[in-house]
Amino acid sequence: MTENTTRLGPRPPKIAAKPERKKEPRLLAVIDQRGCTGCEACIVFCPVDCIEIVPGADFAQFQQVVEVDIERCIGCALCSKNCPWDTIPMFDYAEGIKQAPAVTLKSVCNQKTRADVSSPSATP
Ligand code: SF4
Ligand code: SF4
Repeated sequence: MTENTTRLGPRPPKIAAKPERKKEPRLLAVIDQRGCTGCEACIVFCPVDCIEIVPGADFAQFQQVVEVDIERCIGCALCSKNCPWDTIPMFDYAEGIKQAPAVTLKSVCNQKTRADVSSPSATP
């Protein structure tokens, strides 16, 4: 099992309580939040309900965006095919884990964000 190296701490109980996937997927969907409009179109296509809304209200410079829970995505690519803004790249699973923090502006799943990986004290 590939370790989720983007994990900062436990997921909030409401997210962690959702059903676990059965095996590690071949692919991983990564939301590039820099291009996400928060339209929520992808959410209805996800068969395992692992796309979480990241509120923007307390973060004045950002609108609402969404985030994929890395530990529940099954790599089906349905979200990616249906995003009107083409902002959900699919990666090989291990590569997706590596790439995710750089395109994550804010996380509700307690995963590393762009700020964490660009700060001088961040571990790679
Ligand atoms: S469909 Fe695309 S733009 Fe809309 S919320 Fe999902 S990732 Fe963001
Ligand atoms: S790839 Fe499939 S399982 Fe993963 S977030 Fe997209 S729709 Fe959900």
